[in-house]
Amino acid sequence: MSLRVAIAGCRGKMGKEAVKTVVGQEGMELVAALDYKHVGESLAELEMFPPDLNVPIYLDLNQLIEETKPDVLIDLTSPHAVYEHVKVSLLNHVRPVVGTTGFTDEQLEELTELAREQKIGCIIAPNFAIGAVLMMKFAKEAAKYLPNVEIIELHHDQKLDAPSGTAKKTAQMISEVREQHKQGHPLEKETMDGARGAEFEGMRIHSVRLPGLVAHQEVIFGGKGQLLTIRHDSFNRECFMDGIVYCVKKVMELEELVYGMENIL
Ligand code: NAP
Repeated sequence: MSLRVAIAGCRGKMGKEAVKTVVGQEGMELVAALDYKHVGESLAELEMFPPDLNVPIYLDLNQLIEETKPDVLIDLTSPHAVYEHVKVSLLNHVRPVVGTTGFTDEQLEELTELAREQKIGCIIAPNFAIGAVLMMKFAKEAAKYLPNVEIIELHHDQKLDAPSGTAKKTAQMISEVREQHKQGHPLEKETMDGARGAEFEGMRIHSVRLPGLVAHQEVIFGGKGQLLTIRHDSFNRECFMDGIVYCVKKVMELEELVYGMENIL
């Protein structure tokens, strides 16, 4: 039997690609779209989709779930909307697969607890690209030996949150093995606010936003007389799609929230 999938954020850069992927995926059926525009229409009526894509568009997630009974909700929306979507989804026993970034730590804790109470799978993956997941894993390994590290993430200028979910996740993974210490000169002083980037347990994270970029990250480790750079580049959104398909299948086996694809590969 096919997995019934709903997508929130279908018109977006990631959403459009995800629609194409789910529709073309054997064993998956796209049953609904969640949006706050074009409500009551079908994806077929939107120019960007094929004219035979008769998938209804809903505004209200409760109604969407009641009428179309999805197994999984893929969320590719915005930091302002995603928390509520995941909460409603979990309360209705629909499994969320979330690419949207920008959760606060408190929100992640609450949703983790809710998934545990409901005994239902949920995957929140700041990065669905396998290369980026490996970059994070390799960075964690390198930090055991080279604990002085700075992260530079580079994204397109339409991105709403900074630093990126991937950069925060990388810093968290590094901090699991790196003894917390403040980097740079002890008397270091910024003569312009933000010059040294954001601080996470003494590490620095820098966010670059420019048109032309997609999603890129460098993790730079400094040691005596040496420098190690681990870099990943996403050139287009296709690189995220295998990860989404993998997570939609995997979430059906889970009974808790997993944050980060590296924990389920
Ligand atoms: P985008 O192009 O801005 O797409 C977001 C879409 O969601 C837009 O169509 C937007 O509509 C819609 N939307 C906003 N609020 C909504 C709501 N309440 N209900 C339904 N739809 C809503 O952004 P994107 O580049 O596709 O990225 C989407 C999210 O995925 C971002 O958080 C981004 O950081 C993240 N991302 C994750 C990965 C990963 O691998 N995990 C990779 C790339 C991006 P309007 O434009 O009309 O407001």
